[in-house]
Amino acid sequence: MKVYNFSAGPAMLPEDVMKKAQSEFCNYADSGSGIMELSHRGPQFSAVIEQAESNIRELMNISDDYAVCFIQGGASMQFAMIPMNLMGECADYADTGTWAAKAVKEAKGFGDVNIIASSKATNYDQIPVIRHWKPTKNASYLHLTSNNTVAGTQYHSFPPASKTAPIIADMSSDIMSRVVNVNEFGMIYAGAQKNIGPSGMALVIISKDLAERVPSTVPTMLQYKTYIEKQSMFNTPPTFAIYMVKLVTDWFKTQGGIAAIEEINDIKSECLYETLDSSGFYTSPIKGGSRSKMNVVFRMPNEELEAKFVKEAAAQGMSGLKGHRSVGGIRASIYNAMPLAGVETLVDFMIEFENKNG
Ligand SMILES: *Cc1c(COP(=O)(O)O)cnc(C)c1O
Repeated sequence: MKVYNFSAGPAMLPEDVMKKAQSEFCNYADSGSGIMELSHRGPQFSAVIEQAESNIRELMNISDDYAVCFIQGGASMQFAMIPMNLMGECADYADTGTWAAKAVKEAKGFGDVNIIASSKATNYDQIPVIRHWKPTKNASYLHLTSNNTVAGTQYHSFPPASKTAPIIADMSSDIMSRVVNVNEFGMIYAGAQKNIGPSGMALVIISKDLAERVPSTVPTMLQYKTYIEKQSMFNTPPTFAIYMVKLVTDWFKTQGGIAAIEEINDIKSECLYETLDSSGFYTSPIKGGSRSKMNVVFRMPNEELEAKFVKEAAAQGMSGLKGHRSVGGIRASIYNAMPLAGVETLVDFMIEFENKNG
C-alpha cells in the first residue's frame, strides 16, 4: 500500500529522489563505490557539494554577500551557535512556540535576552502582531521562527530589516516552501529533515559581514567563519546528507523552482483549511492570518475521536497524523514532498470520518 507520511520530521522525501539515491547507492557515477564511501576531498563529492550549494543559491536567489554552509548538529545546535557568534551584550527574540522557546533558553547563557513578542499566554495560537513589536536599542539581532512546527502557525510577513539588528530566522519547517527575500535577513537556518533532506544537519545562509562579529574565544568548529572559509569542509562534513540535499534541490528545479512549489503548497493547505472551515466537527485552534501552510493542526470534539481518527487513517495508509505530545490533537505536516494526491486522500478520509462519527 502507498503510504502518505504526514509526520512533522523527519518527513517524506520526494519519491523520485529516494529512487535515484537507491539506484546510485552502491555505485555512484561509475566510481565503483557509494557516495558515502568516497573521500570528501575527491572529485565526485566535491562536485556534489558544489552543485548542492549552487542549487540552493539559484533556487533562493542568494547573492554573493551571503555564504551557504552545511553544519552538523541540526537546527538545535544553531540555537547555541547563534548567540555564541553574534550576540554581544543582548539580542531580541520572538517567542512563538516550542522551538522558539528553546532558542531563547540557549541564548540566555550568552547575554541578555529580550523577548519583544510572545504568544505564549494564548498557547501560541498566533503570530504576535508585528507592528506592536518594540526592538531593543542595542540588540545585536532579532531571532524569530518563521514556521512553528508544533503550534501550526507561520509568519506571512516579517518585521522590517535593520542593519544594526539583522533578522535571524529559524526556517526549519518552511525553508524553500515559499519565496523569501534572503536580503531581508542576516541569517536563515534550517534543520534539513523537514523540507530538504535527512536529519542531523543544518543549512545556514549567513551574511558574510555578520559572520565577522565572532569573538576569538569561540571554538573553531563553532565559528561560522570556519565554515565559510573552508566551504563547510574544515572537518569531514556529513557527506550523505549533503548528497541528499543536492538530489532534493535538483528535484525542486525540475518542479519549476520555489515559486512553482509555493503554488502547490498553497493549494494543498487551502484544501485542508477549507475542509476545516466548512465543518462543524473539525476545528482549527489557530487565529486567522497566522495559519501554517506546512503544519495544519486541528481538533475534534474529544480525544477518543482523535485517537480513533489517527488509528483509522494509519490503517488506510496515512501515517504520522498524531499532534505533538505537548499539544495533542491532529497535525498534518504537508511539506514540499507531500503530493497533492496525499492531501486529497486525507481530505476524503476526513469527510468520510465526519459522516460516520459526527
Ligand atoms: C524540527 C525543528 C527544529 C529542531 O531541529 P533539529 O534538527 O532536530 O535540531 C528547530 N526548529 C524548528 C522550527 C523545527 O521545526
